[in-house]
Amino acid sequence: MGTITRMCLLVVCAATAQAGAAGAAEASEGRSKTLTGRYVVVHADGKLSGSVRYYLRAAERTYRLRFKRRPSIRPQARVQVAGVVEGASVSVDDIDVTATPAAPDTTGMETLLAIQVRWGSASRQSTKPGAEAFLFGSDQRSVDQWYRKASYGKLGWTGAVTEDIVIPDPHGCDLYGIVTSATGAARDSGYDVDAYDRVMINAPAGYCGSAGYGEVGGRFTWLFDGLSNLSDGYQRLVPAHELGHNLGRWHSHGLECGSETISHECLSRGSIDEYGNAYDVMGNNWPGDTAGGVAMFSAKPLIELGWFGGRALEVASSGSYRIAPLELAGAISPQALVIDAGSRRYYVELRRALGVDDFLTAYPEGTNGIQVNMRHDLLGADNGPLNLDFAPGSSTCSYCDFFDSSLDPGQTFDEVGGAFRMTVDAVSDDGATVSVELATSLPPRRRSRPALPASSRAAARPSASRRTRRPSRTTARSTTRPGARARPPVRTTPSPRELTRSRCAPGTPPATSTRRRPRTSSRSTPLPLW
Ligand SMILES: [Zn+2]
Repeated sequence: MGTITRMCLLVVCAATAQAGAAGAAEASEGRSKTLTGRYVVVHADGKLSGSVRYYLRAAERTYRLRFKRRPSIRPQARVQVAGVVEGASVSVDDIDVTATPAAPDTTGMETLLAIQVRWGSASRQSTKPGAEAFLFGSDQRSVDQWYRKASYGKLGWTGAVTEDIVIPDPHGCDLYGIVTSATGAARDSGYDVDAYDRVMINAPAGYCGSAGYGEVGGRFTWLFDGLSNLSDGYQRLVPAHELGHNLGRWHSHGLECGSETISHECLSRGSIDEYGNAYDVMGNNWPGDTAGGVAMFSAKPLIELGWFGGRALEVASSGSYRIAPLELAGAISPQALVIDAGSRRYYVELRRALGVDDFLTAYPEGTNGIQVNMRHDLLGADNGPLNLDFAPGSSTCSYCDFFDSSLDPGQTFDEVGGAFRMTVDAVSDDGATVSVELATSLPPRRRSRPALPASSRAAARPSASRRTRRPSRTTARSTTRPGARARPPVRTTPSPRELTRSRCAPGTPPATSTRRRPRTSSRSTPLPLW
């Protein structure tokens, strides 16, 4: 049993602690009770919206948890929850972690049972053989083949697809009601449901507004009218993305700082574009959607999934570094740089139109320079990387703004806390050369501003001194953009996906007429402490 982590979410901690001392109790309507079970985070992923649901999977029942503030608890932890129960919903006053979860299996052959259900007159397009080919087939676009390539051969999927199983009409988007009906019916049909590592339910569309749902680090995923057309990039994305949640991944975000790449003020606000990384399967994948492709994971997830081996190089001294394209298989090192800046860590990678990223031939914006993602402690349990946009404000559509986020040859990035300066010297199909100058007067960990606790995120306001900007000698360097870049093909169709924190209305096309790339890459950063 792990150490109990206590999170008092309201001022009624003392009262709920008393309730907690009473141990697990049977829930009753409208009264504060204590329940125990597994804490489950489910991402809802749709073309027009994304959201997160929180559940308590208790022994006899599943409850939807309502928080006033999202807790920083690892999904799948065993928890004790105190709150007001109304039906299958709990307004949480207090939640304690009683046991931390084991890390999900991310290597080897994972087994998957896809249960295909329908109800009433509702139906899906997928067939049993079609879904089998979609998930496990030899076609290079299948989910199994995609994961084999994206994981450098570390992970594959095998399993079974059921015939159509009729279940009672759920009369709504009751995810765990569907699980209960589907798994029960599958068992009745002879499937050993418990023998599979993961269970995917493919159901008719209609009740749930999202195309897919996935438990973070859990066992269940839900698709709605999926697994029917391998030529549809978005249909391919959904199961790969939801299984990515099962592997423990949250979304791959973009750091949204308006007209700036990064600033302390922006970090203190925790302002992110939920699916902002356009070139990560856990991001919006919009370029891939339209080109029939599914983008690879970026370097941070690849490292944490255990697939990257020695491919990442932690930068410990100033110098010139060469990185190979992220997609290359074989024993190649390095394929990413990791730079520690205390509460922030940076991940540097180069993407080419190779492997699962072959669709990038149509999107040179993803390959013109290097991609820089960072990690900041403010995200709490959310392990998603934050893509840095070195051409901020190039589109009025927030997630489209990240399509050209790369740091390009000749550009310099000054780390927001002055921990390092990085210049892209060259980019080719073989790799990128990057010069990194670490600050030498103080070690990075001492120089970096400490992260704010998650609980203070909403209240955090930048101090006057933190907003102060001084002219920097590096600013001029970073604003120089050598040569004019050939612009990629302009898309004229609206994005199929509205993101959680997108600033543009659903269906609003990227403001292509204003996609002139700003001159600065990091003009908002304070003066580095060289
Ligand atoms: Zn998702």
